[in-house]
Amino acid sequence: MVICSVCGKNQAIFFQKHSGRRLCRECFINDIRYRVKEQISRYSMISSGDRVVVGVSGGKDSYVVLHILSEIVNPNNIIGVMIDEGIAGYTREDMYIAVRKFCSDIGVDCIYVSMEKILGFSVDRFMKFYLEYAKENNVYSISACTYCGIARRRILNMYARELKANKVVTGHNLDDEIQTYIINIIRGDVMRLAQLHPLSETHSDKLVKRVKPLRSIYEYESTYYAYLLGYTFQEYECPYIVTRPTLRTKVRDVLIELEKLYPGVQLKLLEFLDNTIANILVKPRIALPTCKICGEPTSPNRSICKFCELVEDIKKILHKLY
Ligand code: SF4
Ligand code: ZN
Ligand code: ZN
Repeated sequence: MVICSVCGKNQAIFFQKHSGRRLCRECFINDIRYRVKEQISRYSMISSGDRVVVGVSGGKDSYVVLHILSEIVNPNNIIGVMIDEGIAGYTREDMYIAVRKFCSDIGVDCIYVSMEKILGFSVDRFMKFYLEYAKENNVYSISACTYCGIARRRILNMYARELKANKVVTGHNLDDEIQTYIINIIRGDVMRLAQLHPLSETHSDKLVKRVKPLRSIYEYESTYYAYLLGYTFQEYECPYIVTRPTLRTKVRDVLIELEKLYPGVQLKLLEFLDNTIANILVKPRIALPTCKICGEPTSPNRSICKFCELVEDIKKILHKLY
């Protein structure tokens, strides 16, 4: 029997590659909770009096973050928002039953929201028309994930405002966070790079602060934690996963290889980037312009936000069809 490297008495069931330790069930669970709470307190992400909207996808990360959060914030002040993106073969409706049961077990309210009903376009419907628009105008089509990401962020922010929440929590893990950091470095997008930092400010009163408590937890750790705690999470993949932006896929593949050669490299990168980027945080607060069409905040130098720009493109096709 292999003994746990931490408590020295129980049987080890998990090899934590980045630390080289073998952990028993109890020490593994304690380690994950400790690291999540350490990030929350280091960056003052959440306090007990907050009112929080949590983006719940039905995937493992959303269960993990929701559960740990319910031990920090009064569950009456947490609202899970599950978004149905409207993707054939990937319905959230099946998952909603399991998610709602889980939420009710931990005393959290959960609501189910249709992207199509709120924004006018599901991911499937948007892509159908965008592909036609791209073909007709001889331009590359954006990936489904680009629209899906923008639309989900917008819905979570709208609901947070409506429900008078002061934080939006998402289940992004360490792998997600490092990929996004690297993508923004490659693109030279300093503004977005700075916005990723947990201490960055929101540059509009209409934007609710987003926080990611799992940002120091590896994806393989989050998966194992979800299995150990017996969550019923969605394991099948979205059919658009194959069209995920190629840069992200390539960055992810490189990071997986690096992690095999140098276990812990992504954690070290997180520490390094957090410390370095803290020095380029945009201060003082800048006022973001407002989109002329929808009235939501948009990036500096834009008069129309990215969401409206995409929707305006496909409206050209819609006018021809109907
Ligand atoms: Fe949305 Fe892309 Fe994720 Fe599918 S893979 S749910 S399209 S972000
Ligand atoms: Zn132990
Ligand atoms: Zn807009």
